[in-house]
Amino acid sequence: MVDYQEILNSIYAKLQKRVDKGKVASYIPELANVPKEKFGIYLNRIKGENYCVGDWEEPFSIQSISKVLSFALAFSKLKNQVFRRLDVEPSGNPFNHLSLLEMENGIPRNPFINSGAIVIADMLLSMLDDPKNDFLAFVQGITNDPTIQFNKTVAASEAETGYGNYAAANLLKSFGNLENDVDRVLDFYFHQCSIEMNCKQLSNAFYLFANRGKCMQHTTHLSINQVKRINAIMLTCGFYDEAGEFAFEVGLPGKSGVGGGIVALLPNEFVLSCWSPGLNEKGNSYLGMLALEEFTTQTNLSIF
Ligand code: GLU
Repeated sequence: MVDYQEILNSIYAKLQKRVDKGKVASYIPELANVPKEKFGIYLNRIKGENYCVGDWEEPFSIQSISKVLSFALAFSKLKNQVFRRLDVEPSGNPFNHLSLLEMENGIPRNPFINSGAIVIADMLLSMLDDPKNDFLAFVQGITNDPTIQFNKTVAASEAETGYGNYAAANLLKSFGNLENDVDRVLDFYFHQCSIEMNCKQLSNAFYLFANRGKCMQHTTHLSINQVKRINAIMLTCGFYDEAGEFAFEVGLPGKSGVGGGIVALLPNEFVLSCWSPGLNEKGNSYLGMLALEEFTTQTNLSIF
């Protein structure tokens, strides 16, 4: 039998010793204050057992990981209509890249780059009665945790310096691919990115993607077909311009965020979350990427 706790302990002990832990994101000023030494891992097995190590109880900013959750909510409500306004191809470019958007007439490559997530935010804004609270309630519901909240200081910090996102939203608007006012869409988007979770909450939030659309309370939120598609987009587009490398080294669908979180999953088997705020040059958690690679190498568990 595989000793998962032993595997997590050994990965943690080995990686925590590394002197190079990457660079904490500083373009959102509030994120720059998070200590680089933090490192936590939480494994949620679909059969029921959980394993954890390090700073798994400490909340962090999920940032771009929220793009999977906002897409899941829009997809569950609008079904395939969501694909009228965005595509599902990897961009091969950084998450905030703009030139492709202009060349492709304001149709974002996928929902997990910034321009795509801004279009999804616009759809949710048009569709929900009380957009921020309804989205938060959806996230709390699938995680079964009413304590999950936005961090308003982080949202305000990004609103002050998010020039690239204002540029993306204005470009989308100029191509007619944004229904609502730019400021309202970005206020929603910055709030969704500011959601805080710890590694356990993040693993629980993504449980439904590993469990055929049913969350931990067995409530169905997505069809098996929708989950298949979301997992496929995570595999091909979940790691900015490092998605190929992640599929190659780790072999799981997943999503990262500039707060240093990474969540990855093997359908019907497990959800694994890592958090370490130092990032590599592609904007993915430096230790988190190494931890996931070690985990799938040691356990031989991947989709391939
Ligand atoms: N809120 C961040 C931004 O829009 C999210 C980026 C990320 O986590 O990749 O720039």
